[in-house]
Amino acid sequence: MDVVAIGETLLSLTPAENGLLRHAESLKPKVAGAETNTLIGLSRLGHRTGWISAVGNDEIGERIVATVRGEGIDTAHVKKDEEHNTGIFFKEIIGGGEVRVQYFRARSAASHMEPADLPASYIRSAKYLYITGITPALSETCNQMIFEAIKLARESGVRVVFDPNLRRKLWGEEEARTTLTSLCELSDIVLIGGTEGNFLFGTTETDEIAHRLFKSPQTGLVVVKKGARGAAYALRGREAFQVEPYPVTNVVDPVGAGDGFAAGFLSGMLHGLKTEESVRMGCAVGAMVTMVSGDYEGMPDERRLHSFLSRDREDIE
Ligand code: ATP
Repeated sequence: MDVVAIGETLLSLTPAENGLLRHAESLKPKVAGAETNTLIGLSRLGHRTGWISAVGNDEIGERIVATVRGEGIDTAHVKKDEEHNTGIFFKEIIGGGEVRVQYFRARSAASHMEPADLPASYIRSAKYLYITGITPALSETCNQMIFEAIKLARESGVRVVFDPNLRRKLWGEEEARTTLTSLCELSDIVLIGGTEGNFLFGTTETDEIAHRLFKSPQTGLVVVKKGARGAAYALRGREAFQVEPYPVTNVVDPVGAGDGFAAGFLSGMLHGLKTEESVRMGCAVGAMVTMVSGDYEGMPDERRLHSFLSRDREDIE
């Protein structure tokens, strides 16, 4: 495996017409999960990916697994839990820019995952283990499982890539800060957004976040995602470097750009590109995801990514 990721994927249900759920006459179902978004991006770019998770023995779980497997991701380690349901959430697009999310995931199958569920040799076989800060927020056992997965990866030289991906609704502020900071410190590569930078370290400055994280012996690369302003990165022992964004004239849906960034970045690393080039690939995939409605639908395959990269270069020249 090139990349193995652990996390929960839910079914999101959004009223077909914008507005409050109470007035909805029909709902649009979508498969939604940060880690599977990134795996889908990587799979479309030709990499071998595996997903560790759990779903209920229900139609929603069937739909999620069929979608993820249909994108070419190995789902052999997605457990079917007979006792708990697959989680769902409702997403209302109310208007005036207000989006409201209500989760029904508190006792979901995935939130019952525990360290004993981890397929150790599967994790050890990967080049990268990709995790986000959502999974440890799901439950105490999920929290323990993530720390155990990192331990397994580190014992075997599997590189750990972490996106803190703060979800304030899932846990208390202090617990979130302590846990996410520890997970950053245990990871080889941290991909962090501005919101998370401010929340964890009180800054979005790459140098300052890196200075803080390089106190840990493990972290060697910090990448700060800056939305329409591209990204910046710092390697241990070097100064921070800014990577310009790929211009997007029409942002259709910004959600999923960060997951796309992770896919493009990891694809670059798997191809043996330099850090700067890999961050550039992340910026390109992130930009492409914003041009299409949906969290992962805009993830390009190799051909579309290369045509986007060369078109952009021609525009610049
Ligand atoms: P999310 O969690 O909503 O996916 P994030 O904070 O993790 O967001 P962003 O910084 O929003 O991630 O986006 C990731 C990358 O995608 C950025 O670093 C940038 O390169 C690219 N990107 C995002 N939005 C735009 C945009 N409007 N124009 C150009 N590039 C963009």
